[in-house]
Amino acid sequence: MGSIDIPQTQTVALVRDLGGSVEFKTDYPVPTPGRNEVLAKVLYTGVCQSDLHTRAGTAAGPDGNPITQIKLPHVGGHEGIGQIISLGPDIMHGTGIKVGGLVGIRFSSRICRRCEFCLAGTEQYCVNSTNHLHHEDGSFQEYIALDADYLTVLPDDVDPVVMGPVLCAGLTAYKAVLNANLRPGHWVVVVGAGGGLGHLAVQYARAQGALVIAVDTGPGKRDFICEIGAQEFIDFAKEDPIKRVQEITGLGAHAAIVTAGNAKAFAHACEMLRVGGSLSCVGIPPGRPCLETPICTIVIKGLRITGNLVGSLKECMEAVDLVRRGVVKPVIKVRKFKELPQVYEEMERGDIAGRVVLQIAQ
Ligand SMILES: [Zn+2]
Ligand SMILES: [Zn+2]
Repeated sequence: MGSIDIPQTQTVALVRDLGGSVEFKTDYPVPTPGRNEVLAKVLYTGVCQSDLHTRAGTAAGPDGNPITQIKLPHVGGHEGIGQIISLGPDIMHGTGIKVGGLVGIRFSSRICRRCEFCLAGTEQYCVNSTNHLHHEDGSFQEYIALDADYLTVLPDDVDPVVMGPVLCAGLTAYKAVLNANLRPGHWVVVVGAGGGLGHLAVQYARAQGALVIAVDTGPGKRDFICEIGAQEFIDFAKEDPIKRVQEITGLGAHAAIVTAGNAKAFAHACEMLRVGGSLSCVGIPPGRPCLETPICTIVIKGLRITGNLVGSLKECMEAVDLVRRGVVKPVIKVRKFKELPQVYEEMERGDIAGRVVLQIAQ
């Protein structure tokens, strides 16, 4: 890679007020990489439901409360793939960090490495962390400065077009599957299976040898979901999913992964589980609704309930590797950067099967 002219300004997709519209600003400053940072040119980025929540003003903040601490103006995007174009001072040698290398732009941007959660390898919960949703400008821009010490260094041979959605949707889906403790032949229900997160959860669950019952609705979803490997499809608008899961599994499913942002879906999922079953919560319903499952059901059935906020960098690299090896195949549709406002509208209507990826670099 030869020397690259780095411009002073760039185009970003900016939201001035939460709940406001997306505006393209063409004279936003290009960051200068500071000590131990790299500057990357953003090639592609996925569009996540939480970007939409943030734009719409319905997101939860870092403490789980409705957002009060989001940096404004807000530049979203946390499923980006970039290429390093320059290195700031003091980058350590021997770390695989090089100009021309591919890097991920993920939800977690910086961590402290010293708190209890960092030390435990669960650094996504770091008490001193920052992320590309609440605190720092994300991948809806042409250039980004990233912390070299917590850099997502990707192998040179990955396909940058498909890899973006793996970094948030894929990682979260992979983590939810790990938390479901699946064994070969176990039944897992994936609710919202046709969406960006759901279609990856179906495939990561299949990679563990589990049998998948996909729940979704809408034209074309059945064919789409069966093509990516689900054994059964339930159209929740046409059939009773709880009854159907009991019919298919006999005793109920071993696990349920709910990616839908709908509170009722979580309560229904608990009803689908067998004794000792686990519920992996992934979707975040807007507002602050509670899980409507009676405590007696949780106690008597011995259910296990986990929350899933992305995953660690190590788990991210495992999720990336399964895609790199062709075991999991993100289904994506590439759109232009300028189409982001329309993409948000389509996501609000639930029209998108798989994931939209925006092409950022021209
Ligand atoms: Zn996300
Ligand atoms: Zn920490």
